[in-house]
Amino acid sequence: MSGRDVDVVVIGAGQAGLSAGYFLHRAGLAPETGYVLLDGGAGPGGAWRERWPTLRLSGVHGIHDLPGLALGAADPDRPAAEVVAEYFAAYEREFGLPVHRPVNVDSVHDRPDGRLDVRTDAGTWTTRALLNATGTWRHPFWPVYPGQATFAGRQLHTADYRGPEEFAGRRVVVVGGGTSAVQLLAEIAEVAAATRWVTRRPPVFAEEFGQEQGRVAVAQVEARVRVGLPPGSVVGVTGLPWTPQLRRMHESGVLRRFPMFDRIVPDGVVWADGDTFAADVILWCTGFRAVLNHLAPLRLRAPGGGILMDGTRVAVDERVHLLGYGPSASTIGANRAGRAAVREIRRLLDSAPAPVA
Ligand code: FAD
Repeated sequence: MSGRDVDVVVIGAGQAGLSAGYFLHRAGLAPETGYVLLDGGAGPGGAWRERWPTLRLSGVHGIHDLPGLALGAADPDRPAAEVVAEYFAAYEREFGLPVHRPVNVDSVHDRPDGRLDVRTDAGTWTTRALLNATGTWRHPFWPVYPGQATFAGRQLHTADYRGPEEFAGRRVVVVGGGTSAVQLLAEIAEVAAATRWVTRRPPVFAEEFGQEQGRVAVAQVEARVRVGLPPGSVVGVTGLPWTPQLRRMHESGVLRRFPMFDRIVPDGVVWADGDTFAADVILWCTGFRAVLNHLAPLRLRAPGGGILMDGTRVAVDERVHLLGYGPSASTIGANRAGRAAVREIRRLLDSAPAPVA
């Protein structure tokens, strides 16, 4: 086998990709000839390294330890982006994971011999199985509203946010009902001249977010992908837990929610009932979608617009698993997906001898 002929390619080295790498390592596959991880990031950390510097470790729901090496004690006041990047770097070293970086996968193609060609900006890898762990960060979702292109101010997405400083003295509309929306609203409201929070549906506040709520949320998302529907948002099913920060925002009036505006005009937003808000900035905290465009040549999508899944395996192609997709889109879900996928991939590799290249 040449160095670019492998049994398993993992695309992405975030939580899901590293978990898969760990279980492939444990299964005894040889680095480089047995498996590789191809990651487009500039360094370790997956999407965490891209998150805004004001997102402190204490401000995240909780980052589950990767299998086999704990994060350990970390300063809760440090940016999550830095802490996770350091942790993932140590993890890659500890298990000697063969991560190629930065390598961006452009597309994946069927070969006549039953293997897959993984085409990248650093050449092509040929593989018998594919573990896709590309997350969602590179695919921010921007809804479309009438007049959007006429807005004279700045529009940005959660993915572009770097901290509240640039909003000092400005009038800001924050769109979205998820955790990111309320966290960014809290920071911006401290410095902005005025804020207005709008969401499509009335937000549902939850008393707590415990294991039971987590299980229910995961089961609901799993039910969707099992019938080939797009996964949808986990917050859509869990609601927003009442944190101390949320209670403070509620008391100060910042958390007053407005329904979605009707249209955007050059200097603000307008509601159907004639209400208006003059704005310099619209911040779209409207979520992300799975990064899967590179898999398009494999034609995995079901008529429902999603990908029909059986656990982590794509129902119509046993060579392909999606990790961190749908019900496994959390740090704990990504861990479990890595283990489950590697167990199935080993069976697949054992059942069919490697083709002669
Ligand atoms: P990612 O971390 O996104 O890693 C994907 C990797 O794939 C990246 O390194 C990327 O560069 C690479 N990649 C993408 N496309 C390509 C390509 N074509 N070629 C090569 N490489 C590619 N979950 C929790 O459990 N707790 C939390 O507190 C929490 N907070 C969150 C806060 C925010 C703001 C967001 C958006 C999500 C949060 N989540 C949280 C969800 C959690 O981040 C993810 O479920 C999990 O970390 C994602 O891991 P992943 O490996 O699937 O993807």
